[in-house]
Amino acid sequence: MERAMSREDLGEDVLRELDKVSEVAAHLWERGWAERNGGNISVDLTAIADRLPTTPDAVTVTMKDLPREAGGRTLFVTGAGERLRDLRPPMRAGGIVRFDDAANGYRVLWSAGGPSGFRATSELPSHLRIHLDLSSRNGEHRAVVHCHPTDLLALSHHPRFGIDEELLTRTLWAMLPEVRVFVPSGIAIAPYALPGSSVLAELTVEGLRKADVVLWSKHGAVAMGGDVREAFDLIDVAEKGAAILLRCLSAGYDPVGLSDDQLRELERKFDL
Ligand SMILES: [Zn+2]
Repeated sequence: MERAMSREDLGEDVLRELDKVSEVAAHLWERGWAERNGGNISVDLTAIADRLPTTPDAVTVTMKDLPREAGGRTLFVTGAGERLRDLRPPMRAGGIVRFDDAANGYRVLWSAGGPSGFRATSELPSHLRIHLDLSSRNGEHRAVVHCHPTDLLALSHHPRFGIDEELLTRTLWAMLPEVRVFVPSGIAIAPYALPGSSVLAELTVEGLRKADVVLWSKHGAVAMGGDVREAFDLIDVAEKGAAILLRCLSAGYDPVGLSDDQLRELERKFDL
């Protein structure tokens, strides 16, 4: 039987991405956006991990209805039921999986606890759909983060902001200049759908085609980026806008917000 891959076998490029995952997972835990096994992270490593061997005797975990293009793809994913706070080194909560060429399922290439006990998050279908959509449109985006940012999630329960993505985006842009500049395509709202369902996956893909952050109604948020730090930043900045809005509403007044002229001035300066 072949020796299971150790962390060192993964190579510098992959380890660099895993270090970023640990860093972002720690932020998510500290911010209170990843309670228990809430939240998940994936990184498409196909371009930098194609040399990693598939252990010949690794069991294939079958998955139904995988898109054909999933075949051969290599992803880092968080594990089913695992806690994001356990993504700090040695990263017990994550693993690297590769989909077989016929896209009937995946085999575990590496996980800190050994490949046999690892199972990918139930949100893998959503993450996979997003990665496939991204790579067909824009090869630069490789990381997807889902978490439960408290104030954005609270706004998804709001009778107006929670159902009108244009109103939500315009209002959060007006809370502070950074939201307009660093969440330039705004926030899309996906109506509530069962976690892990293909309906939710489809809504998420649609949302990310037009917006930087997708707010899963009454559940959480998803963003993508060139790496996990970029994806985290998008949610973090949007969440700041949500926190300011809720702080003003809680204090009993409607925020004045940046004016249309002030927003246009930012758009000119930053070429938005
Ligand atoms: Zn969730």
